[in-house]
Amino acid sequence: MEVEMLGTTTTKTTAGESCVVCEQIKGMGIHLYTTFICEECERDMIGTDTNDPRYKYYLKQLRKITNPEICS
Ligand SMILES: [Zn+2]
Repeated sequence: MEVEMLGTTTTKTTAGESCVVCEQIKGMGIHLYTTFICEECERDMIGTDTNDPRYKYYLKQLRKITNPEICS
C-alpha cells in the first residue's frame, strides 16, 4: 500500500501537504484547523476501533492539532 510515494510520478502538479498523522506528503486529504490529514489516515482513523493501539497513536498525533486557544 505505501509504495508509490516520492516516486517518479509527476501526474499531479499540486505539491501536496504534510499529513500530521503519517507525516508524509499527500495530495488528497482534509484540513483540520491549520493542519492536514491525508485521505488514508482519515479513513484509517474512522475505521480504527478505539481499543486498537493505533487509535492511541492517532490521538497522540491529533493532539498536535488541538490548540489551547481552541478550547472553549
Ligand atoms: Zn496521513
